[in-house]
Amino acid sequence: MKLIERFSIGTGDRFGREGVAQIAAFARAREAGVSAAIVWNKSNREHLIIGTGPADQRAAADAAVKASNWKGAYYVDADHIGLGSVDRYAPHCDFFTIDVADFIGKSAAPEAVRAFASRHRGLVSAKDLPTKLDEAGLKAAASRYLGAVAEAAKVYRRIVELKKGAAFVAEVSMDETETPQSPAELLVILAALADEGVSVQTIAPKFSGRFNKGVDYVGDTKAFLAEFEADVRVATWSAKAFGLPPSLKLSVHSGSDKFSIYGGIAEIVRRLGAGLHLKTAGTTWLEELVGLAEGGGEGLAIAKEVYDSAYARYDELAAPYASVIDIDRSRLPSPAEVKAWDGAAYAAALRHVQSEKRFNKHLRQLLHVGYKVAAEMGPRYLEALEAHRDSVSRNVTANLWERHLRPLFVE
Ligand SMILES: [Zn+2]
Repeated sequence: MKLIERFSIGTGDRFGREGVAQIAAFARAREAGVSAAIVWNKSNREHLIIGTGPADQRAAADAAVKASNWKGAYYVDADHIGLGSVDRYAPHCDFFTIDVADFIGKSAAPEAVRAFASRHRGLVSAKDLPTKLDEAGLKAAASRYLGAVAEAAKVYRRIVELKKGAAFVAEVSMDETETPQSPAELLVILAALADEGVSVQTIAPKFSGRFNKGVDYVGDTKAFLAEFEADVRVATWSAKAFGLPPSLKLSVHSGSDKFSIYGGIAEIVRRLGAGLHLKTAGTTWLEELVGLAEGGGEGLAIAKEVYDSAYARYDELAAPYASVIDIDRSRLPSPAEVKAWDGAAYAAALRHVQSEKRFNKHLRQLLHVGYKVAAEMGPRYLEALEAHRDSVSRNVTANLWERHLRPLFVE
């Protein structure tokens, strides 16, 4: 089995054109003494909207790595897959985010729960258990999660079959659900995954608070960090206790740009000597818009056009993301207003710098879900990216390095 590196960062590249600029940020981190693996992720929904597939994503990743002469680790993620989609991804991916959120709470068979509780009754009295767990809690968690774990195991075995001995990293994700998992539930989930023989290396629970797309964390940051630390302790303990891979670490599906919790996450991980997988910077596509706007001319015109259409097609574009955006439509500038902006004004409104007075998180979220508009522009959009390559790359690299990698790993 390939053990994943201690630190890994999931980055998105919707149009597959920014790999080199993204790698440049990781190279800067290396120069600063930090090594983090790159994991390119792209969800099925993004593939469908843009009209690409996992093979395109693999080709873009390999080409960027080759062009950059990147010697660090990198992966291509089959992002939020299940039994229905795994086959399509398997030949092109070496990281699998097995999403079983839909199977949570489908009550497991009472015999299975009883057998699990009896097999693991020692947990309740274990002296060094990193979280509180009593018999009732053990059974309740088993009943709630054994079905989801069984599904994860089915998908995992299918991956093993499809990969025919080739190494891959398995993540199990339960983040796309309403209710957060407690640290005790996470412990039960990990025990059950081990029972099923799933060599899980990263686990993505649902955390407390809101992780809206492309904007900062909304919620009680202190409570989040307490929960995160408890989860880290559970993961480390479980890896040893249940014989899971020693690389096992938490995966935070951040929805990008959770700047207010980066410092706390970094401190906890460092203090506990733990690893981290952080999915972030799916906002790379927004840096393309910033770069186009700053590039001026046709680039700025395209950036404005994207806003114009996204504004007009609000309902259609926002609907698939309703649970992960929070847009106050009354705070969106009118397309006429945006039309009068120069490139600097557009960039200032969109770029995620919270101290900037002109920054508008409503506009940012709308544009974030508006990539369909750019996809429909087809070659015109892609050609503009190349025509403004310097400006686009500069923004993509600076975003990842200055606002993500540096605060997380260097500061
Ligand atoms: Zn997720």
